[in-house]
Amino acid sequence: MKANTQRWYSAFVRIGVISDTHGVLLPRVLELFAGVDHILHAGDIGDEDVLSELRTIAPVTAVAGNVDRFQLGDAGLTARVTLSGARFFLTHIIDRPRKPLSSVARELRREPADFVIFGHSHLPHDEQLDGVWFFNPASAGPRRFDYPCSVGILEENSGVWRARHVGLDARSEAVLARGEQMNQLSRARDSSPPDSQM
Ligand SMILES: [Zn+2]
Repeated sequence: MKANTQRWYSAFVRIGVISDTHGVLLPRVLELFAGVDHILHAGDIGDEDVLSELRTIAPVTAVAGNVDRFQLGDAGLTARVTLSGARFFLTHIIDRPRKPLSSVARELRREPADFVIFGHSHLPHDEQLDGVWFFNPASAGPRRFDYPCSVGILEENSGVWRARHVGLDARSEAVLARGEQMNQLSRARDSSPPDSQM
């Protein structure tokens, strides 16, 4: 019974979410992801070495972004994985959660997901719509404008999920502390960034 109890208390799942690394993997990410059970990479990986290094920490489910020409190693346009009972759908570009690309909407109708993990905008996004949790960890690569460099941590405990962004430096933490503002910026964003290199 003792072993059982212990197992119960360790039934806590932590997932590291990262995107838009553009070939860069900061030591801070390795620190933050230490001990996670799984890592999700939402694309614009930039270099297969990023995936190899992440795989030394935990199993990785990844998609490739436009910068990766939508294929890098075994990462393709979309990926699905079920973790701790939650169904994850990953794709780099969804446009807006409230008005996703028709290909994304079609894919979600075909096979529903509990979480949609995406990137591309380099903006943090955390929004639940009709039972689907849309999450963009923002970019963990080179800084762009005053956007935060961050990753996401998703945690499940006794069936309850929590999501948060963690800045990779003090400046990013400060931007994230103004949190809602960034989230709103992402929610209000009209369309894909004009810069196709994003
Ligand atoms: Zn990018």
